[in-house]
Amino acid sequence: MTVITEASIKELAGFQSAEAPVVSCYLDVDGRRHIRPKDYLLELESLKKQLIATHPGQNFDADLSLMSDYVATQLDRHGVRGLAMFSCAAKKYWRVVRLPVSVANRLSVNQSPVVAPLEAIVHTLEPLGVLLVDRQRARMLLFQFGEVVERTELFEALPRDYDRRDDASRGSREREQHHIDELAHQHFRHSAEAVFRLFQDRGFGRLSIGATDEVYAAVEHELHPYLRERLAPRIHVPVSANETDIAKAAFDIERVVEREREDAAVIKLRDALGSGNKGIAGLVPVLGALNERRVATLLVSNGFEESGWLCGCGALAMKGPKCPLDGQEMERVDDVVSDAVDAALREGAQIVTCEANADLDVHGRIGALLRY
Ligand SMILES: [Zn+2]
Repeated sequence: MTVITEASIKELAGFQSAEAPVVSCYLDVDGRRHIRPKDYLLELESLKKQLIATHPGQNFDADLSLMSDYVATQLDRHGVRGLAMFSCAAKKYWRVVRLPVSVANRLSVNQSPVVAPLEAIVHTLEPLGVLLVDRQRARMLLFQFGEVVERTELFEALPRDYDRRDDASRGSREREQHHIDELAHQHFRHSAEAVFRLFQDRGFGRLSIGATDEVYAAVEHELHPYLRERLAPRIHVPVSANETDIAKAAFDIERVVEREREDAAVIKLRDALGSGNKGIAGLVPVLGALNERRVATLLVSNGFEESGWLCGCGALAMKGPKCPLDGQEMERVDDVVSDAVDAALREGAQIVTCEANADLDVHGRIGALLRY
């Protein structure tokens, strides 16, 4: 089993096979939707039928039976909601990536593994830090896909007995209140320090804080600048909330954060297109920019597929068979979008996979921010 990281995705994207194509399969095995294994086995069968129908004369029997065998006999669904399998039986290439999130079902053939869906997942893999804090208590939790992977707590009780003294003069009452506020403030500082330690020990992408407006302002002020720049939208659960409710709210924040990342990239693209500066949209211009190695960020709508051409030199094109770079004869590929993602990964570009972003869709479902 391969663990999903940027490095493992690059390794997958690096496998190329022009003579014997690679079969890539994404299968949703989420136990919450597919209670019985029979449910997703049937889905796999129907994906296989579609693939065979759309590729007359080609034989993928060896690849497809490897996949069926794995799903039917070897899959342990514990902690697994999605499966990515890549096979090129003729070259004895076989990789399985078990995913803690569900995926859209997809079976396709190309000259290298289709990795764009993995790219989309690896970004949501970054844990989310959550700090719930009031004047006495702080809870720090680390979430991944809505599940707690780490928790710590801090309790610093404020004195209560002040209130019961009735002989106190007005002046000393004010002093006492001031003292209590100072203690609370100390607690905010300690909470900010504790969450920074968690950040140093475990690392997380973004931080979401749950607190009243007043406490939020005080804690934000005490945060290390590294954390302040990682602040995500606020989480709306009280410090005393149970972990199920916190997990639900954290999962929603994770989705919001991912959506924000997508939207920010699309806005950047729109601005670049508007000003005619370092932005392009549409498959043909994007392939051209990839051939010239100018792509810094590739934006692509999840599920976008288009056939095209691939040259031995690595060049991609919509129209063939003559390579736009060296005039050689190119090979037809089923999914040139997937090859575009691979090419972008190889040149170190960032990939942003957008879920149903209408602004990207009107620009042809693919675009790029350019290095120059
Ligand atoms: Zn070429």
